[in-house]
Amino acid sequence: MSGEPMHVISVSYGNDSCAMIQWAHEMKLPDVHVVYCNTGWASPSWPMRVIKMEAWAKSLGFQPHTVSSIGMPDLVRIKKGWPGNAQQFCTAHLKGVPFLQWIDEADPERTAVVLIGKRREESPDRANTPEFIYGSEYHGGRKVWHPLYLHTEADRNALLARAGIEVLPHRSKECSPCVNAKRATFLSLSPGEIERVNDLEVEIGKPMYRPKRFGALGIHGVMEWAKNGRDRGDIENEEAACAGLFGCGL
Ligand code: SF4
Repeated sequence: MSGEPMHVISVSYGNDSCAMIQWAHEMKLPDVHVVYCNTGWASPSWPMRVIKMEAWAKSLGFQPHTVSSIGMPDLVRIKKGWPGNAQQFCTAHLKGVPFLQWIDEADPERTAVVLIGKRREESPDRANTPEFIYGSEYHGGRKVWHPLYLHTEADRNALLARAGIEVLPHRSKECSPCVNAKRATFLSLSPGEIERVNDLEVEIGKPMYRPKRFGALGIHGVMEWAKNGRDRGDIENEEAACAGLFGCGL
């Protein structure tokens, strides 16, 4: 035993998560575990990205883990509604619960440090990200560390370049679409992803996005807004605090 705490990086394998892994490698952090939560709502292409990045993390001497959640479709069925900004239960059920179950087993003493690649510059909602959170209630009372909190996009991209990883032109697709999706995300959805939302909307009889938010009822209406609707600054800056807590989209 080195006496060093276990380091657990919570990832979604987007740009910031991969930069976080590279940073931990360059800092030579000991006993590093990399944990990805399968939300059951990823883009069809995302599992390949996860496999590739897990292999890369392993090549650095880290231990990657994928943990499973109930999955968005069953969560929505059980709740009889979609997570929204007022009640964003997806982060807790799809990410918080499986992450806590894993870490409580791997670290019963609760001495592990949880690392998340959040950056202040990334969005207005993350502008006050602290370097440390002590005794985080969402992480079983463990210490949370945001080592990249002051990194600019250029700093992050330099980490990715040193890792030999190309910068993605979009956020992580761990949930596709995310409840906080914005115009660019909608426009990048495949027909299959749009139909997946539509099918679930029809099944539970409720739209994924509040009709008031986009002036549209149902995903097809939202897609119409994404293609032709007017810009709304409030939507561009909208991100629920709980998504930030669990590093969604990083
Ligand atoms: S990525 Fe979006 S939809 Fe998925 S858990 Fe986070 S906030 Fe919810």
